[in-house]
Amino acid sequence: MIDNPTFMTAIAFSSAALMLALSISWFNARSDSYLVSWAAGMGFVVVSQTVLALRDGRYDTTLQICQYSPLITGMALIYLGTYRFSTGSKRLWPALWLWFAAMASMNLAFLLGFSAPATALLNAWCALFMASSARHYWCARQEAPLQMIASVILFGLTSLSFLACAVMLAVEGNLVLLAPPNNWAEQLNSIMAIVGLTGLGALALTLNQSRVTRRHRNEAQTDALTGLLNRRALFERFHFTQIAPNTAVLMFDIDHFKQINDQRGHSAGDVVIEHFGVIMRRGIRLQDTIARIGGEEFCAVLPDTTLDSAWAVAERIRADFNDHPARLVSEKLIASVSAGVATSRIDESFSTVLNRADAALYAAKRSGRNRVNSGAPRQVA
Ligand code: GH3
Ligand code: MG
Ligand code: MG
Repeated sequence: MIDNPTFMTAIAFSSAALMLALSISWFNARSDSYLVSWAAGMGFVVVSQTVLALRDGRYDTTLQICQYSPLITGMALIYLGTYRFSTGSKRLWPALWLWFAAMASMNLAFLLGFSAPATALLNAWCALFMASSARHYWCARQEAPLQMIASVILFGLTSLSFLACAVMLAVEGNLVLLAPPNNWAEQLNSIMAIVGLTGLGALALTLNQSRVTRRHRNEAQTDALTGLLNRRALFERFHFTQIAPNTAVLMFDIDHFKQINDQRGHSAGDVVIEHFGVIMRRGIRLQDTIARIGGEEFCAVLPDTTLDSAWAVAERIRADFNDHPARLVSEKLIASVSAGVATSRIDESFSTVLNRADAALYAAKRSGRNRVNSGAPRQVA
């Protein structure tokens, strides 16, 4: 068995390495503030373990407070990071209140001379911070089930090992400790501190990395102005597959858009584009796909839709855009849109149907704009 100071030094070194790795990750993505909480948490654990490693046989109130206060602070910061990561909240107070209650109760007991109950309190608070972290990951597990459930297990086991230490101290029933407690629960807790903290730190890094990758993938597929899919994402979704029969493709192009840019400025043009994105969103169903595929060109793909229904959807969107113009401050930005509609036949590719919808759109432009064309003769009400 390794002796206690060696254990503590090992924990301090592994926590310091993780603190460094988490700080580097934060340096590359400054908005991910939970990384700072985790890194600072590891930092406080390092301070705590260093104090213990250097204690040189001493075990008095000052040393206990100097060792255990950073440990509680480190646990509270790790909990804060987990809370922020899994909920997306920036609130500080839930962790701050818990930290304050933990520090006050433990240090008061130490100052009153009850070092055994104070140490039991320390372990109980650490168990609570670890269990609460496990709960937050459990609730958010659908984001990355494997890594999050592994973290829940590690947080849970670390919490149990702290709880076992608290229970052992309570069972022994002493009021004062003359030496650090030394029993099976403490040994288990030391092992869990190394396995748990190292594993959790490494998992935190991979969780953050997969979130960053997902964010980049979303950004690469999203049009920044409207929040809709962009051309690349639409083609990735449909281009390489034959689309099912009765899939409707709707192409929209805002009329005389250059004039809006020329007369009202590029930012007014942007407002119109953004507004049309909102109109499109409210004009389609959940199972439909919409994308901005060019400057003021949009496309909608509607599964299981007849040509008539697709025409009706496009017409509703066109009329909505006419009836509800975009606004720049209080000024209305009057604009209209033309649309072309086509539906797929058996064994047709997406680009074939798209080309037909595009041809219908340009027929709508040629025949006067502000209308929907499906290639079939039709009367606009
Ligand atoms: P038509 O009725 O025939 O469609 O005429 P149009 O003036 O709309 O012609 P066209 O579709 O060719 O015009 C597209 C213009 O959209 C040209 C380009 O300067 C402008 N544009 C492209 N992207 C953006 C953008 O992100 N913001 C703004 N404001 N304008 C853009
Ligand atoms: Mg255009
Ligand atoms: Mg246009």
